[in-house]
Amino acid sequence: MIVMKFGGTSNEDAAAMRNVIRLVKNHIDEQPVVVISAIAKATNELELTARTAALGKEDEAIAIVTRLFERHNTIIDNLLVSRSVASELEGIFFHHLAEIKALVKGIAILRELTPRMLDAICSYGERLSSRIIAAGLLEAGVESEWVDARDFMLTDDNFGRAQPVLTAVEVNLEKEIRPLVAQRKVPVTQGFIGITRSGEYTTMGRESSDYSASIIGGAMNAAKVQIWTDVDGILTADPRVVKSVKKLKRLSFEEAFELSYFGAKVLHPRTMLPVIEKNIPVQILNSKRDGTGTMVDFHFDGNEEQPDAVRIKSIAHKNDIAVVSIFPRKRFSPYMFWEEIFNVLTAYGITTGMTATSEFKIAFAVDETTVSEGLVHELEKFGSLEVLHKKGSICLVGKGMRGAGGILPRIFQTLPDFQVYMISFGASDANITLVIDDECLHEAVNNLHAALFEHDELPGMFEELPH
Ligand code: ADP
Ligand code: ASP
Ligand code: MG
Repeated sequence: MIVMKFGGTSNEDAAAMRNVIRLVKNHIDEQPVVVISAIAKATNELELTARTAALGKEDEAIAIVTRLFERHNTIIDNLLVSRSVASELEGIFFHHLAEIKALVKGIAILRELTPRMLDAICSYGERLSSRIIAAGLLEAGVESEWVDARDFMLTDDNFGRAQPVLTAVEVNLEKEIRPLVAQRKVPVTQGFIGITRSGEYTTMGRESSDYSASIIGGAMNAAKVQIWTDVDGILTADPRVVKSVKKLKRLSFEEAFELSYFGAKVLHPRTMLPVIEKNIPVQILNSKRDGTGTMVDFHFDGNEEQPDAVRIKSIAHKNDIAVVSIFPRKRFSPYMFWEEIFNVLTAYGITTGMTATSEFKIAFAVDETTVSEGLVHELEKFGSLEVLHKKGSICLVGKGMRGAGGILPRIFQTLPDFQVYMISFGASDANITLVIDDECLHEAVNNLHAALFEHDELPGMFEELPH
């Protein structure tokens, strides 16, 4: 079996959904399990509904979510031929809308939005879209079956960033999904959402449908996980920032992981985790244009030709980074000091992709949104703190970075006028990361892209894209 995951823009309207149905039919012999995201922008609108309710604006919140449901009903009307199936779905959606209205009322009265309530509301996006796709497939002659993620995706109760309980998920998938595949049916389920032991909906973080797909693929030992999206594959940079991007034909698991971790939105940062040790290939494909996509399917093992050659393959960038530096009050033991700092970060669930240390000082880069008053207060117990805001990171991903003499001068030549606040180099052979001012990020990414990718220094690695 394979997993086919379709993102929001692949489901944005009836035409896009018709195309999803066509793609699933094309792959029917590979026994697909289909994972669906909410329709484009639906999760944003659900979040806005909840946040508007928390301001006490119940009517406004209900107007937002009602419009979203109308959008779904329009898709149903334009996609499904059978009026009885359409009205059955519209009936289910009507109940869901009533449930959301009740939640909105509660939030508006209390003027309080807990992460648990937010997840409950956001869970509806995937629950609606997946039902439409399942019905559309059935109508197109595919024996599909809608499967509720609450029947298998058990998670912890960290609402908003829940983690799957993998052993239970594996057992549940064998019970709920494997028999359908064995009967040659096409299970259609939801990305992004999970369920706690006590039956409450959770979400695994924004954009995490990719992660749901790879959890399912990893747990069921799929032959492949396909991520169908709105670009031709993994590109040399974010196409919204760099015009002349090229597509990568193949990438190692490690490179794909680094790229996603350091901000390439095309894959959720955790996507590679469930598949990397099982060597399950991940293929990134454009749902709106035929092509071969990018295949992530190998590990570097040191046996390749020119094992030491530097091969920069892509540039990821991230906005909204803060650099936090701490100077300890008592200089007696750096490792105890560092331990204390990392204990605080762990307690706040914060990971940092970059750290730098001098004799007693430690600096790390984190997402700006994680720098809360509580965190600052906790860290200040251990020393004096400096927080640099409005920074951004650039991560060059590839192979052979460590020990490669010429690469650093080449990078810095392209960034002569930029202030660099942190550098991470050497921890991995696969990346070099810099922190610069957020406002300079796009210019720096373009400069680096022009210097590193304009001339084809790595024949066979990239594919030019049709314009
Ligand atoms: P989906 O809704 O299908 O999950 P996303 O919007 O989450 O799609 O991810 C696809 C987007 O990722 C692309 O439209 C592109 O703008 C962005 N992106 C950022 N970096 C890269 C990259 N290196 N390669 C491809 N796409 C990238
Ligand atoms: N619908 C969710 C979001 O927008 C999950 C996803 O699309 O991957 O964050
Ligand atoms: Mg995505």
